[in-house]
Amino acid sequence: MSETNSYMMVGERLCMDFINTVSWRESTEKRREWFAGYANLVDWSIHAGVLSGQQAKALLLKAEEKPPEAGDVLKQAVEMREVMYRVFKSIAEEAPPLEKDLDRFNEFVSRFDRKLQLIHEKDHYIMKFDYSGENLDMMLPPILQSAVDLLVSKNDLERVKQCEGDPCGWLFFDTSRNRSRRWCSMADCGNRAKARRFYKKEK
Ligand SMILES: [Zn+2]
Repeated sequence: MSETNSYMMVGERLCMDFINTVSWRESTEKRREWFAGYANLVDWSIHAGVLSGQQAKALLLKAEEKPPEAGDVLKQAVEMREVMYRVFKSIAEEAPPLEKDLDRFNEFVSRFDRKLQLIHEKDHYIMKFDYSGENLDMMLPPILQSAVDLLVSKNDLERVKQCEGDPCGWLFFDTSRNRSRRWCSMADCGNRAKARRFYKKEK
């Protein structure tokens, strides 16, 4: 979780990258929130492929007209992210999630389920959040969808891991064949751990 590249995306799943929008998550001194304002959330959403540039522009204009509403969406986004973080962290630790977190998660699901649509794709049907409107919170349903998809895919859950870098706290979806990935990024936490090991040996 480099400080220089503010949009590091190493989670391999949209929901994981969303959760990783806090640098040094588990450190009290170094922790850095990426979503300082609504515009940051929109900017990240473009980068994550959730919003087009055009949609983003429209949302920012809308946010300028309605600052309290935009602030409210930002608050919701951060809350949704933190609930998702706690649920997936427990999965990474092979522990059951707290009931209150699951309840909170479900509140987001039911808030957005009005946007759920059945979509016909060639030879099958899928349920998908429709976010074609231009509501200030339109980036949230697809992110939530990504989390729901991962949660209901039983086998894939074993690939949800937390970076071993201390105090990184980032989560990722391990796509390596033998499920051997340990770090959010080899160039970042991986290298630091290697350097630490080397230093210990030298000593
Ligand atoms: Zn890390």
